[in-house]
Amino acid sequence: MNAPFTTRLAPSPTGALHLGNARTLALTWWWARATGSGVILRIEDLDSPRKKPGAIEELREDLAWLGLDWDRETAMQTSRGPRHEAALRTLLERDLAYPCVCSRKDVEEAQSAPHEAPGDLRYPGTCSRLGLTLSEATARAGRPAAIRFRVPEGRVAFTDALAGPQETDVAALSGDFVIGRVAGGSLAPGYQVAVVLDDQDDGVTFVIRGRDLLLSAARQVLLQRALCISPVGYAHVPLVVGPDGRRLAKRHGDTRLSALRLAGTTSDDVWRWIASSVGRRFRSRQELVAEGFDPLWVPREPVVRPLLDGAGRA
Ligand code: GLU
Repeated sequence: MNAPFTTRLAPSPTGALHLGNARTLALTWWWARATGSGVILRIEDLDSPRKKPGAIEELREDLAWLGLDWDRETAMQTSRGPRHEAALRTLLERDLAYPCVCSRKDVEEAQSAPHEAPGDLRYPGTCSRLGLTLSEATARAGRPAAIRFRVPEGRVAFTDALAGPQETDVAALSGDFVIGRVAGGSLAPGYQVAVVLDDQDDGVTFVIRGRDLLLSAARQVLLQRALCISPVGYAHVPLVVGPDGRRLAKRHGDTRLSALRLAGTTSDDVWRWIASSVGRRFRSRQELVAEGFDPLWVPREPVVRPLLDGAGRA
């Protein structure tokens, strides 16, 4: 991406920011600011089962502490219901999606961005040829029906600005995936369809986010095509892992920004580590931005979390 783009910080209010998501957000901000690009904040509050009280305020506090800013904040996802619902209905009407009575678990999981490696078993397409209406499916399942996207056969190809050329066979990998569900008298979107619509409505042209969402990008490309939405660029930033090489988690110690703050770590300490993780020296955020941002600096492998606390600075 050489030309300026519009990107977004799209955190979910599901818990405190830890070093891993803070690094991805900080690199997104740095890349955008260094290239004169636009940055939007969109709080993704769709993830209701995992939403925690007070998490939005905590998130804002962490973003401010890190020194991130944005050109505008756009509407939270839960206020975009009619737009999401209209798109789900369009897909159903065009037979690009269908009601499904199968797994309750898939439906619950579809509300959140799938950050874990896909444990997803491929959906065998049980409901794809039943031709059920939403109400028939709901009656048959004895609970609100799910809506699945009819995944076309073949590979989805795109080039990720960090991960390189990608070719994903979504049909073979996950099969038809859940994009929404019946919720009372209306239809509620899952993460995959909401993010595609919201990025379009917010004028996002370049999505920068964690590497754990790389497989979701192929699903999102298919949804963009089905909804006649212009494609966006993608850059998936390798994750921060623990010393054991596994995705950063509680067992690796408390890396929440709030805990680091309490232990005496400053936001400059965090930035110093973020800059060093892409081979740069930190003097100030302003100087980093002035220096520019080259995606080639970003190592293609996960980075191991530093020991950052008041006593042992990285
Ligand atoms: N809101 C999602 C998350 O924080 C990120 C979604 C995205 O960047 O596409 O889990």
